[in-house]
Amino acid sequence: MPISDTASLQSNNVSYAPAWEAHPPPLGIYIHIPFCAARCIYCDFNTYIDLDHLKTGYVDAAQREIEMVGGALNRPPAQTIFFGGGTPTALAPEHLARLIDACRRVFDLSPTAEITVEANPGSVSAEGLRALRAAGVNRLSFGVQSFDDATLRFLGRIHSADEARQAVDEARRAGFDNINLDLIYGLPRQSLAEWQATLEAALALEPAHLSLYALIVEPGTPLQRSIERGDIPPPDDDEAAAQYEWTLERLARAGYTQYEISNWALAQPGDDRTPRLASQHNLIYWRNQFYVGIGAGAHSYVRGVRYANVRHPQTYMRAVMREQTPDDLPAPALDPATRDPIDVALAQSEQMMLGLRLVREGVSAAQFAQRFGATLEARFGATIDALLARGLLMWDGDRLHLTRRGLLLANQVMAAFLPD
Ligand code: SF4
Repeated sequence: MPISDTASLQSNNVSYAPAWEAHPPPLGIYIHIPFCAARCIYCDFNTYIDLDHLKTGYVDAAQREIEMVGGALNRPPAQTIFFGGGTPTALAPEHLARLIDACRRVFDLSPTAEITVEANPGSVSAEGLRALRAAGVNRLSFGVQSFDDATLRFLGRIHSADEARQAVDEARRAGFDNINLDLIYGLPRQSLAEWQATLEAALALEPAHLSLYALIVEPGTPLQRSIERGDIPPPDDDEAAAQYEWTLERLARAGYTQYEISNWALAQPGDDRTPRLASQHNLIYWRNQFYVGIGAGAHSYVRGVRYANVRHPQTYMRAVMREQTPDDLPAPALDPATRDPIDVALAQSEQMMLGLRLVREGVSAAQFAQRFGATLEARFGATIDALLARGLLMWDGDRLHLTRRGLLLANQVMAAFLPD
């Protein structure tokens, strides 16, 4: 049935503190673009290299989904748009501009909204970057991964290190100053010196933001199969830990503030715990706030329910064009198997596991009580005391956050907050 008669974000099916949920912070809007020129060996994202013929129809469907979702939620406030993938720059800039315009029409998008496009260095041109800037995009996130050409070839990336440098230069000339570089460390056979060379090459470009991820070998990827066959060794956890520890020191010396386990922003005058150049969109996830996901396989968290769209682009396009949606969720392409109502105990656990990833901001006791109507002490007192005693957590005023030791053992800390 049509959803135009559902009018707010307020939930009827979970027991959050009603004041928080009736007036949640502005939404984040994630838009998934599931097209790539080639498949990287480690990638298990929902992306396709043989569906270019669907691009125009896919944009039509995404535009329609934006209109339906924004209408169903009665034009809610939104603070960010994030185009992820896949490779969003596999689409023409005018396609991305059309989707941004649709968001502006049906969401109450803040005039200061962060609008990010993930881009691969091999898929951008000077003209395309200027068009994105003109469309209102104000942050670029380049999937660079390495500044070593042999490593890039090993990973299946389509660009070279020089092309990455050129892409950053062209982005600056097009007017972008908020540029993130994604890099991967902890690769099979990657020495500390090799990782150091990649990070130094990134620092030479003075990006506003760095996202540094340890390689994860995902099931079903070509990388996993090669490791299983014994063609290449698995990543060395000790080497990755040494690379991470060196990175913490090096980026601090270079003037970057670590605000999340894997994310750093160039420090700015007047920065608080959370730097001004932090990814505003990802902060919505780490603060456990609500977001809508547009596009094939995109995830949403709205009205206390987490859910995902159907994964395949063709199935997604058919679902949206049917213009039907469940009564209770703004989700025309819902995959019912993914519907996951988050009860209050789970939401509290997630608040801790996500919030503690923010290494300086952490979890505010007052905000926790305001959202859940229960104190941190009442809910997690014994767990917190045990982690304080082990030197893994510390209080900073009202905020609980990881210590340096807790940062290095973050998985253990997060696991302590898993629901019973
Ligand atoms: S470019 Fe990104 S999304 Fe595309 S295959 Fe490579 S890792 Fe996956």
